[in-house]
Amino acid sequence: MYLKSLEISGFKSFAKKATLNFNSPISAIVGPNGSGKSNVAESFRFVLGEQSIKSMRGKRGEDLIFNGGAGPGSAGIAGAGGGAGRANRASVKVVFDNTPQRDKGGQRALNIDFDEVTIERIVHRDSSNEYLINGSAVRLKDIAELLAGAHIGASGHHIISQGEADRILSANIRERREMVEDALGLKIYQYKKDESTRKLEKTEENMKSVESLRREIAPHLKFLKKQVEKVEKVQEMRDSLRALYREYFKREDIYVKEERTAVDSEKHAPTHELKTLDHELASAKARLAESKNRDAKSDELIAIEGKLAGIRAHKDALSRDLGKIEGEISAGERTILKEREKQSRDEFKTVYLKDVEAVVRKIEDLESISDIRALFTEVKKLLTGFINQHKTADTNGIGSTIGEIEKDITQLKHQKSELESAFKKAIHDEQTLHEEYNQLRQKIEKEKDVDRDAEKNVFRIIARQNELRGILAALKNREDRLVLEEESLKRELQEAYALVGREAMDYDTLELAPEAGRVAQEDRRKQIEKIKIRIEDSGAGNSLDIMKEYKEVEERDAFLARELEDLEKSRISLTALIADLDARLDHEFKEGILKINTQFQNFFSLMFGGGTAELAVVREKKRKKRSDTDLGAVLDMDMSDVDGESAGGDSEEEGREGIDINVNLPRKKVKGLMMLSGGERALTSIALLFAISQVNPPPFIILDETDAALDEANSRKYGDMVENLSKLSQLILITHNRETMSRAGILYGVTMGSDGASRLLSIQFDEAVRVAK
Ligand code: ATP
Repeated sequence: MYLKSLEISGFKSFAKKATLNFNSPISAIVGPNGSGKSNVAESFRFVLGEQSIKSMRGKRGEDLIFNGGAGPGSAGIAGAGGGAGRANRASVKVVFDNTPQRDKGGQRALNIDFDEVTIERIVHRDSSNEYLINGSAVRLKDIAELLAGAHIGASGHHIISQGEADRILSANIRERREMVEDALGLKIYQYKKDESTRKLEKTEENMKSVESLRREIAPHLKFLKKQVEKVEKVQEMRDSLRALYREYFKREDIYVKEERTAVDSEKHAPTHELKTLDHELASAKARLAESKNRDAKSDELIAIEGKLAGIRAHKDALSRDLGKIEGEISAGERTILKEREKQSRDEFKTVYLKDVEAVVRKIEDLESISDIRALFTEVKKLLTGFINQHKTADTNGIGSTIGEIEKDITQLKHQKSELESAFKKAIHDEQTLHEEYNQLRQKIEKEKDVDRDAEKNVFRIIARQNELRGILAALKNREDRLVLEEESLKRELQEAYALVGREAMDYDTLELAPEAGRVAQEDRRKQIEKIKIRIEDSGAGNSLDIMKEYKEVEERDAFLARELEDLEKSRISLTALIADLDARLDHEFKEGILKINTQFQNFFSLMFGGGTAELAVVREKKRKKRSDTDLGAVLDMDMSDVDGESAGGDSEEEGREGIDINVNLPRKKVKGLMMLSGGERALTSIALLFAISQVNPPPFIILDETDAALDEANSRKYGDMVENLSKLSQLILITHNRETMSRAGILYGVTMGSDGASRLLSIQFDEAVRVAK
């Protein structure tokens, strides 16, 4: 026994709570027209999740709520009268026995781990719905899934409403297929398939959006990657720059310090020397100033020179005069000699040899001027004695001439002697002056030498000073350059700090092999400049930001890739699942059809005493094609009108699978559903419904006046079938049929009072027969 009870409260005509217990395989609900019996069937639809208000004879959810006794559309037989107040909500609760079923391998009918399952639905005036399973709020979907497992879904193949007995006959092939699928319990597969298809669609959609997201970020990622590569390259450059900087700074520091010390010490000696030279120069200059006296001495020298020249000229004149006088004397003496010769020749005046020899001797003995003078006196005496001796004998005039000449000679000689002493004096004077001159000149020369030395010294000092100034200037240059180098070192340190951080400054502990000259250091500096330019040129922005962004974007991309992989996996598994479900659906559907057909044939021939009936799985075909086929197909064509896929066109293209019904009544030539009478239609429907229910019995079946069109004989057959069916499914029969009522174990009577509210009571068969009328 699966269906335990139903509790209706505020639903449609059931103003007050009414409970139906179904503890019999067949329950019948009876009552007069309009008392609310069909509302009971609809309450089942409602609680099982029916979404079509129309199928529950309403327009809005509100119409399902008890609207008060005088509510519109109220056609209760009790007529008007003080109606009950309208309800705010309608609630229906159905209780299932869900204990494990022995005949089904201990499985529970509803896939939920409770022995008793209560499903409740509440609708409010604002049309909002609440669904509950065992008192817990759930979604409609949860209820649908739970019920589909027990094939009592909302499609309602097991709830046949009033006048709907032949619904399965009048449905189109696709609707029919759905009903059969539902009845065969394949809805669960369908649900799963639909869900999987939805998931697949969603998955594919997600894949597309993930792919497009990846495509969207791809160029950015590529750009960032390049940036990052650049940043890394720059990082490498920075590292080598840092190392280079450290060595450079260390060496520069050493150089600057050493250079400073060197310049300072090198400056010391020349500065000192220069100071000493200043003093020396001053004294040398002072010495030079003294040389002014020299000019006075020069003047004196010139004066002496003048005097000397005068004396020499006087001496020369004396010499000339002496020569002239001597010439005159010698000429006079020659004349005298000539005269005397003349006399001797004439008179043989002789000069004794001894006398002459004495004279000669005396002349030969001449040694000095005084000797000459003595000789002269001797000679004169001799000669005068000679002349006097001979004069007496000379009387012709000659003697007088000689005398005169001699007189002249004597005068001349006197003059000569005067000249000679003058001459002597001149020579003496010259000698004296000359000596004086030489002495003065020597003095002057000596002084000149002293001056020259002083001058030389001045020049030397000045030259040395210049040299020293040159050295100092060079040192100053070096110092200036050093200052510049020190400043540039400071600047470079700051720059390095900004470029590669403080590590560049940690060079103190660095041990370096000494290096000669500045060439290598200069190369190092050039190298640093080169790297700096390359770093600048690289244009790498804020590296930290870029790395961060790259990492984020890369992670996002990786995440998306993983997402895509996952999605692809689930796409594959969903596709497989759908294919599997399709296969199972197809297989079980075809199996089910075969089983239904056996039962259908049985029930049909039972109802009609023969004939054939079967369900045929067909594909929807095109109008034209179908218009040539049999009547069943024609009928089917009309039914499948709604199917867009089959409308229009001439091709042989096949549509979706559906179910066709082929019937052959015994002893009748006509075929097809169209040709059936109302009763025959009802019987065929019942046969099919029962056949379906037989193959896959739902826990319960509600039949609302399905038996209305049956005559007595068929009512009995119907009753037999019902009883037969009740062995498999619990039956709730709404009926006016006496025969049907007689088969029920429980009878409920529904009446409607003057308040417009349905009332429910459990009754006996006799009463039921009465109540039903
Ligand atoms: P029949 O035997 O003729 O088929 P029935 O017993 O099946 O009749 P129902 O169709 O179930 O009768 O009941 C219809 C009754 O329910 C009507 O009287 C109608 O006024 C009443 N009814 C329907 N909806 C509401 C509502 N929301 N509030 C009050 N009464 C309602």
